[in-house]
Amino acid sequence: MRRLSASHTTNAPSIGVTAVAGDVILPGSTIGVLGSGQLGRMFAIAARTMGYRVHTLSPEDDTPTGQVADREIRASYADLDAVREFARNVAVVTFEFENVPTATAEAAASVAPVRPTGEVLHITQNRLREKNFLQSIGIPTAPFWPIRSATELSDALRQLNQPAVLKTSAWGYDGKGQVKIANAAADTIADEAEAAWGTLNAGEGVLEGFIDFACEVSVVAARSMSGEFAHFGVVLNTHRNHILDTTVAPAPLESHIADEAVQMSREILQRLGVVGVMVVEFFLTRDDRLLVNELAPRPHNSGHFTFDACLTCQFEQQLRAVCGLPLGSTTMLRPAAMANLLGDLWNDGEPNWAAACAFPNVKLHLYGKTQPRPGRKMGHLTALADTPEQALRDVLAARETLTKR
Ligand code: AMP
Repeated sequence: MRRLSASHTTNAPSIGVTAVAGDVILPGSTIGVLGSGQLGRMFAIAARTMGYRVHTLSPEDDTPTGQVADREIRASYADLDAVREFARNVAVVTFEFENVPTATAEAAASVAPVRPTGEVLHITQNRLREKNFLQSIGIPTAPFWPIRSATELSDALRQLNQPAVLKTSAWGYDGKGQVKIANAAADTIADEAEAAWGTLNAGEGVLEGFIDFACEVSVVAARSMSGEFAHFGVVLNTHRNHILDTTVAPAPLESHIADEAVQMSREILQRLGVVGVMVVEFFLTRDDRLLVNELAPRPHNSGHFTFDACLTCQFEQQLRAVCGLPLGSTTMLRPAAMANLLGDLWNDGEPNWAAACAFPNVKLHLYGKTQPRPGRKMGHLTALADTPEQALRDVLAARETLTKR
């Protein structure tokens, strides 16, 4: 039995790193999570429920994941010695944050299995690589151009001839690193391109046609080590200021569109060889075409409803996949709706938790974050009801009461 070293640690019992039967990592083993936010927290809760131990590594401490993990290691992702030491003490490494540098995933992989692989990370942490991959397998996206200068941008804007969004290739999320460009007149395109490129302030960007979509939907899916595929259906997402605001499950779509979204998701996970959970985010155009906007190679905010509403939640599914276990049933127990709780809710003091808890069909999730900054995801509510519409009404009503005194 390998022992854990005491460096960089809190809450550190001496435990077995792994119990393996064939390729299966069994309960009692330790799972390593790179990243330490709410996704890791809910993953750790699911893992501990099934008798696994969890270590987390990130540059912070007293983190949402660390608060419920067996061990919280504070180290920079660039500290490859710390990453290798972390990996030596776990049976498998997974992540809850896809912007982990490639070198970090490689350092971990030199010591322990990393699932999904660094190659999946490499593709999905860069919008351009991701879109090129999707195009190469025939999955439709918004029209896009790689952009490396203001001149390339003005050329692309001329070809596109519609409103557009310029995004950084790397490190973008929740609308960060994005500039919307209105339909520029021919004689002002060069100036607008110059201004937008300056605002983006990145070495490489992607210009996308702005899609006047009917709605945004996503599929949270999973693929196991044996290639088994499971999904949680198609859900409807609304955003506020580019941040997810609500999810309704299932989405009110015609069944052929929902089937198509699932088929595309299946194809993407299979072609990427994902082991774990991945979300595929789509725009549904007004003429019923599905365009993939983004992939995230991990559990996702639009899958939080599964924690309360499905037989197996997305976090348990991630655990099962990375441990080589069979996937669980994704059967939805009741229609559900999720509403995010952002730091803005704290503007006038602590939200009125008791008022939200007065809704018996609403579940409260808080992530243990102590600094409620505007736009920061602090928690979420999930309502279960007889219909998705009722679930949405209930979850919004419960959120509304949080700021009532
Ligand atoms: P992203 O970070 O790329 O997921 O963008 C965040 C949100 O911005 C999306 O969920 C959309 O609401 C909006 N958005 C991003 N790209 C586009 C686009 N090409 N057309 C229309 N809306 C977009």
